Amino acid sequence: MRMYQVYVCDFCGHESTSHDEIELCEARHIGLQSIEEKHEYDALKSATAYFASVVYRMNNKETRAAYDKAVEKQLVFEAKHGISC
Ligand SMILES: [Zn+2]
Repeated sequence: MRMYQVYVCDFCGHESTSHDEIELCEARHIGLQSIEEKHEYDALKSATAYFASVVYRMNNKETRAAYDKAVEKQLVFEAKHGISC
């Protein structure tokens, strides 16, 4: 018996056994041209979420500044790639 792992695009439901194919499909739905750009965008969103959680637990000048910096980086990336959420 053989088993296959199937990946599914979160946006259109396209299925493939290729992880990269589906990651590129999702990248293009967002308006990005490559998997590398999607990875960069995912990392920026993760950083924003992380620093938001830090502010929630420990709200002070330093944690707010780190959060603001993460948001700024994400907004600059989104503006550069024409992403509007
Ligand atoms: Zn898709």
